Amino acid sequence: NQQILLDNRPQGEAVESNFKLVQAPLGTPGEGQVLVRHHYLSLDPYMRGRMNDSKSYAQPQPLGEVMQGGTVGEVVESRHPKYKAGDKVVGMGGWQEYSIVDGNVPGALRRVDTSHVPLSYYLGAVGMPGVTAWYGLVKIINPKAGETLVVSAATGAVGSAFAALAKARGCRVVGVAGGPDKCRYAVEELGFDACIDYREHPDVKTMAKALKDACPNGIDGYFENVGGYIFDAVLLRTNAFARVALCGMIAGYDGQPLPLANPALLLVNRIKLEGFIVSEHMEVWGEALTELGGLVAAGKLKPRETISQGLASAPAAFLGLLKGKNFGKQLVKLV
Ligand code: NDP
Repeated sequence: NQQILLDNRPQGEAVESNFKLVQAPLGTPGEGQVLVRHHYLSLDPYMRGRMNDSKSYAQPQPLGEVMQGGTVGEVVESRHPKYKAGDKVVGMGGWQEYSIVDGNVPGALRRVDTSHVPLSYYLGAVGMPGVTAWYGLVKIINPKAGETLVVSAATGAVGSAFAALAKARGCRVVGVAGGPDKCRYAVEELGFDACIDYREHPDVKTMAKALKDACPNGIDGYFENVGGYIFDAVLLRTNAFARVALCGMIAGYDGQPLPLANPALLLVNRIKLEGFIVSEHMEVWGEALTELGGLVAAGKLKPRETISQGLASAPAAFLGLLKGKNFGKQLVKLV
């Protein structure tokens, strides 16, 4: 069973030598346990935070242990009555080829139907990132039809689901993404009304101007994935009583400072800002996944994936995700 461990913690920017590839013996499942062969690993920005040894909402990833993370795969052997060999399942198997899972732990494993939705989508649009978009949109921004919403990291796993969910509610949706290819794709394939290339607008002033052009009626809701000057520029264009769903601040995950130039705008525009962690809201997952699965089935949410091949490619693919080298949901294919 090939595995990738967290070998040492990053000093500033995360690097490949923080990880270590090892071979470990493959155990056999005990009573109540299930042996799962992973087909895909999910690579997610939150993993960067857990590589640090700092206090956060989640425990840090322990050193010398398999990198934790979401997986989809197939049951190879089951000693639990709820699962049988051949079942397709979602779990938190981590960066390894196989995992042994206790079938009695609530939420540890979830069987999924791959007759209409490809297995890998359960790690993206019809999985944790999709629910993240749903929660921030529905529970925090809570938009009315006709309102203008902005999302950063627009073509990523979360951003692309956000666009489909927001269009379904009759909103104008404007994205912010890195590079002309991503921006073109956002408008032509993902249904965005407009998309701004932040690399062409590298400071608050030019970004605020681009947002003014793309959002002539101002901004009523912002789904924040990035932080930094993009957030400042959005604040300059918010309408009174705008809502901000604070989902991620990836521009600061390697330790970069993210100062806010105009915090007074939160007061002046009476803005509601709420941070959230999707795993703390399991009560919405059923409803959210039903809607996301429906959008995929109807062709209204066409998720794009960047797939790297083989377990050994996971560290480089993960570091690429933190720099925007991914285009859509970043996965590692094992089988
Ligand atoms: P994505 O698929 O969106 O990939 C990350 C993207 O972030 C990159 O492709 C890149 O897009 C963008 N990015 C990276 N660095 C920068 C930078 N310095 N400035 C601007 N953009 C940058 O990842 P996800 O969809 O999985 O996650 C999106 C966000 O949602 C992350 O911040 C993540 O931490 C957060 N999240 C939060 C959750 C929660 O419960 N709160 C749960 C899941 C995700 P581009 O090339 O367009 O810049």
